[in-house]
Amino acid sequence: MDKNNLPNVAYFCMEYALDSAIKTYAGGLGILAGDYMKGAGDNNYPMVGLGIKWKQGYTDQYINEKGKAYDSYVNTDYEDCLEDTGVTVNVTIRERKVYCKVWKVNKFGVCPLYLLDTDIPENEDTWICGQLYGWFGEERIAQEMVLGIGGVRALRVLGYPAEVYHFNEGHAVFAGFELLREKIEKGFSFKEAYEATRKEVVFTTHTPIIQGNESHPIDRLMYMGANNGLTIEQLVEIGGAPFNMTVAALRLSKITNGVAQLHKETSNKMWAHIEDASKIIGITNAIHLPTWVGEEMLKLGKELAQGYTTSDINNRLWNAHIKNKEALIDFVYERNGVKLDKDKLLIGFSRRAAPYKRSNLIFSDKKVIEPLLKSGKIQIVFSGKAHPLDDTGKEIVQTIVRFSKEYPNSVVFLQNYDMAIGRMLTNGSDVWLNNPRRPLEASGTSGMKAAINGVLNLSILDGWWPEACREEINGWSFGDGKGVDDFTTLDELDNHDLKSLYDVLLNKVIPTYYDYRDKWIEMMKSSIVDCREFFAIERMLREYYELMYMV
Ligand SMILES: *Cc1c(COP(=O)(O)O)cnc(C)c1O
Repeated sequence: MDKNNLPNVAYFCMEYALDSAIKTYAGGLGILAGDYMKGAGDNNYPMVGLGIKWKQGYTDQYINEKGKAYDSYVNTDYEDCLEDTGVTVNVTIRERKVYCKVWKVNKFGVCPLYLLDTDIPENEDTWICGQLYGWFGEERIAQEMVLGIGGVRALRVLGYPAEVYHFNEGHAVFAGFELLREKIEKGFSFKEAYEATRKEVVFTTHTPIIQGNESHPIDRLMYMGANNGLTIEQLVEIGGAPFNMTVAALRLSKITNGVAQLHKETSNKMWAHIEDASKIIGITNAIHLPTWVGEEMLKLGKELAQGYTTSDINNRLWNAHIKNKEALIDFVYERNGVKLDKDKLLIGFSRRAAPYKRSNLIFSDKKVIEPLLKSGKIQIVFSGKAHPLDDTGKEIVQTIVRFSKEYPNSVVFLQNYDMAIGRMLTNGSDVWLNNPRRPLEASGTSGMKAAINGVLNLSILDGWWPEACREEINGWSFGDGKGVDDFTTLDELDNHDLKSLYDVLLNKVIPTYYDYRDKWIEMMKSSIVDCREFFAIERMLREYYELMYMV
């Protein structure tokens, strides 16, 4: 790839995880986008990002005395990380002009990243950039209009010569409507504008769950003004009725990618019935190493990859790991007042509380799990939020909190999962557990963070893991690659996976940890060496340019 001759890319995303203190993210999508911006910055790719300056961002999660999770939104001020570009654009929402001030992020080593802000005195509609993934439909559409329509207008005023528009998830689809409008205004017919726009747009799809793919009633889009000059018939032609944001993005792009190779297969099956959709390829997610891997581990990883194996490397690796583990143990003690034991196996698990992720699977058979927890043979640290409207998710959190009360010395729930907790857990656990129902986890990046820190993955063969797993060499799998289509009921799948999890945990993971420490350290080395290059953001950037932007 000739790095001097790359197209200029404008990347659109609702959320960016840049730093724990800045509430511009909710979860995995934002982690990916934030890491991508940092990678583009480190390596000087010709790219800019567009997003929203959230005033409250995503919810904070608190656990009350009864173990119930509740939500709280707080205003955050992070203007010291931003500079004023002097640019303001406007978008007409519900027939009212909404002004969007354009900020530029000036920290964290990102490529130029512009955040649009409606919380300015000129506006009545200051609420639009309030809460990320907030509560009601009109709010979401207004936010997406700011991101998409406002984002393209910001690029024009800033004078950025974008050649490729990358929609990271369907939220950005209204940017496509603005590209259409510009062309129609220049005299293109709708058909011509549509064909020309498709050549400029690429799309990344993220969710293999149908209900997770956002849709809106056509009437509501018209009422909000999101149609941006398009007719009802044209809206339906692009996104169907109700208007599906993923379908629209599939149609408005020249190429689409799923975020792991298995996810590519799943997405192709899922959207096979959509006429006129772009081709879906697979580009597996990756992480920004300096954000997620400590300096000592990075250094050891480099030595290991160079085949540089002095006799003391095993000790150095183990000591570096124990240091990370102690830091995690101290962190847990400060937060929850529980003192975990550094000589006991520590399992980490942090995920958004959604049913398919099965956060409490490991507790399913008390006969098996209770002796392990009571004897302290295993300790488990959990974390994870549920969406404010997701009552099932909140129940899941509550169940885990209940287990932490039942086994106070060996089960911990850390409230308010964020980047700091994510880093602590993926650095300091011994084992990283991941047990979604296959194939519903599109990729996952927390397991990559763990792997490159020498934390061994114990995971269902879903998302990124089938591409990395070498059984008993760099981690473990369980569940035999079976998934939701292989059983008549979810209960059968869950029982099957549970048996497999206990089997691997009891017969492989626990004995290796306590009785074969040398083998454990060899596995840590393989985990680091196998993953540190392929799952680094540089590989992912290269693939996006070669397979998406330049085709
Ligand atoms: C890494 C990370 C994620 C994404 O991890 P998954 O493997 O997709 O669960 C989400 N939230 C935070 C805070 C993270 O650090």
